[in-house]
Amino acid sequence: MRIGVDFGGTSIKAALVEGAQVLRHAAVPTGGGRPWREVLADLGALVRGLHESPQAVGVAIPGEVDEAGNCHRLPNVHGFDCVPLGPELQRLLGCPVCIENDATAAAHAEHLFGWGRQHGSFLLVTLGTGVGGGLVLQGRLVRGRSGFAGEIGHVLVDSSPGAWPCGCGLRGCMEAYAGAGGLLRAAREAGSNADSVAAVMVQGGLAREKLLAQLAWALGTGLAGINNTLDLDALVFTGGIANSLALLEPSLREALRARSYHRLLAEVPVLASRLGEHAGVIGAAWLDTAGK
Ligand SMILES: [Zn+2]
Repeated sequence: MRIGVDFGGTSIKAALVEGAQVLRHAAVPTGGGRPWREVLADLGALVRGLHESPQAVGVAIPGEVDEAGNCHRLPNVHGFDCVPLGPELQRLLGCPVCIENDATAAAHAEHLFGWGRQHGSFLLVTLGTGVGGGLVLQGRLVRGRSGFAGEIGHVLVDSSPGAWPCGCGLRGCMEAYAGAGGLLRAAREAGSNADSVAAVMVQGGLAREKLLAQLAWALGTGLAGINNTLDLDALVFTGGIANSLALLEPSLREALRARSYHRLLAEVPVLASRLGEHAGVIGAAWLDTAGK
């Protein structure tokens, strides 16, 4: 039995995991902005509520972690930049702790229990507030020198002077158009007053059409460039709007064709993740098998 933790901007979820099954899970609000030691104490109590003396714990975080276990760039959890998360959690829990970017952890779960069983090389694309990704190449999870590998959201898709600003400080990033903020902007420009991407999808009409067209263009443009480089077996999508992949696929395929330098690359399979909402905790629970 394993314990995985999904440390998100809104809540911290922990689960007892066997294979790809979640046996028991619990969650607490993250309460970002508090001193980080308080947040870590909550995380520790959550884990101990599931198991009094865990043998090992994996944690997926919405940012990156370096080799020393320091976390970096957590835009949705205020006060956590450069926190020595790994060493502090090991001390707190009294057991080995593996920490990984959340999209990379979800890609590891997909590799072990989802499409990875058929496809040795794939990019997991996470669609939500931001656009993230995790990369598995020839059966191996790729972390990169600083843990940033697969972070595809900031690939340039628009170099025009009017390119939209991105939360990272640059302009014209894929995330500026395909993240929730950019998609809502497109829907509002088409007359929607919805306050979430999910609401626009339910409303339908012109706003949904514009939202999907922008998403397909931004994803297709960025992902074609990545696939031109890596020649992947599949692109796997996860996150709320991945449920609408059937609606998105025709225009996504068109955008992929427009930027792929060979037709074989343009026909890369586009798939919805086989793991549900628990991919983060499942991937986290199995992080010690990822090989660093
Ligand atoms: Zn960016």
